[in-house]
Amino acid sequence: MGGSITGEYDGFAYEHESPDNYEYVVDDDEEGFPSFRLLQDEDELVEGDEEEKVFPSTSEKKPKQLKQGNLLDMWGIKTPQHSSPSPSLPPPRKKTRTGNNSEQEIGKSKPSKTCPFYKKIPGTPFSVDAFRYGSIQGCSAYFLTHFHSDHYGGLTKGWSHGRIYCSPLTARLLTLCLSVDPRFIRPLEFNVEYVIHGVCVTFLDANHCPGAVLIHFRLIDGQTHLHTGDFRACKAMQTHPLLANQRVHVLYLDTTYCNPKYKFPSKEDVLSYVVRITENYLKKHPNTLVVVGAYSIGKECVYLAISEALGVKIYANARRRRILHSFGWPELSGCLCAHGTDTFLHVLPMSSLRFESLKDYLKGYANQYKAVLAFRPTGWTYSEQLGNQLDLIRPSSKGNITIYGVPYSEHSSFTELQEFVKFLKPDKIIPTVNAGKPANRDRMQSYFREMRKS
Ligand SMILES: [Zn+2]
Repeated sequence: MGGSITGEYDGFAYEHESPDNYEYVVDDDEEGFPSFRLLQDEDELVEGDEEEKVFPSTSEKKPKQLKQGNLLDMWGIKTPQHSSPSPSLPPPRKKTRTGNNSEQEIGKSKPSKTCPFYKKIPGTPFSVDAFRYGSIQGCSAYFLTHFHSDHYGGLTKGWSHGRIYCSPLTARLLTLCLSVDPRFIRPLEFNVEYVIHGVCVTFLDANHCPGAVLIHFRLIDGQTHLHTGDFRACKAMQTHPLLANQRVHVLYLDTTYCNPKYKFPSKEDVLSYVVRITENYLKKHPNTLVVVGAYSIGKECVYLAISEALGVKIYANARRRRILHSFGWPELSGCLCAHGTDTFLHVLPMSSLRFESLKDYLKGYANQYKAVLAFRPTGWTYSEQLGNQLDLIRPSSKGNITIYGVPYSEHSSFTELQEFVKFLKPDKIIPTVNAGKPANRDRMQSYFREMRKS
């Protein structure tokens, strides 16, 4: 297992993680379709945090998008600030085994795989979303685009390999959920230019999960690199002063849905659809518990939309409530309640959206509700036949449990990727998702060539 491949890819020299780091898995929640999944350190995942892109299924609908405030407002141009990171860092933590928590205490020193080339920014001492490789040679600044486990994997409270740069919201989650030592965390504000090791660095809103950033690097030699992390491209991005009419030399692109078959409806359309279905269902079956599946973070807009439209509170367990309160979104915090009996709108981990689990869950509220209407918002629920016609969605039902897969995506559809690439016209594009196999990379590069031409 492991190893690396070196070579040249679209004119870009690289050293790449071996395809051995990928495996085919069959997720029994996805009707047995084989999935292409990046091997993860499962014990480092936050419970219920499954990034949608690691569980692709050809059988379901689109994912949903998050609401992260008004991008245009967020992108109000601020006076650039220049600051350098404080030179003082805590000394590297000694690896000491302390009884039962030894794995956590020592910062999980699993055998290091080679950091893939697309996680390093050439000409800088920077890496992006590369925490599972331990200390990376020559890297003195570790960037984290967002708080999803396949990006922060490797980060524990024992992290001591270097300073972590991320958004303030992600920084709060690092301490809240992973107990990362705050002395290693350096939150950077959105749309403010920082100078780090001589490189100008700016975070832009990624339109993905709360706190997710695109990272814009302007190197000392004038080269610009844009790393998208995970993102859903949108029109508002085309107005950002760092992107509009600006040259980008290298684009590190979230290629989760880089296939022409993925033409999602907009987030807004999916949210209206979810609200409509809920209202109609409740008219026919008033004693229904409405359940929305969600990752640790992500999909907030789905239950917020129902909450706002129907004027009901949202129940989530204590752990999720702590996370949601940490966002600092008053409109979300104000809707949360601590008792499941106080509202018919509940949020559960995506993994609980199964007939048997929901049937058991309903038993806990047998005095109040007779049925469950559940929404499973993931991009992989999208099918080509569906297109933009949400009304063609058919739920799965078993007894008094009804589950709708709804195509709400926090990643760009193919059409959105196309528009983004056409707008940005980067010199080079490096795919960062599903890029482990040469055949996949070649196919994506051919799409990119078409996009640039059009
Ligand atoms: Zn993500």
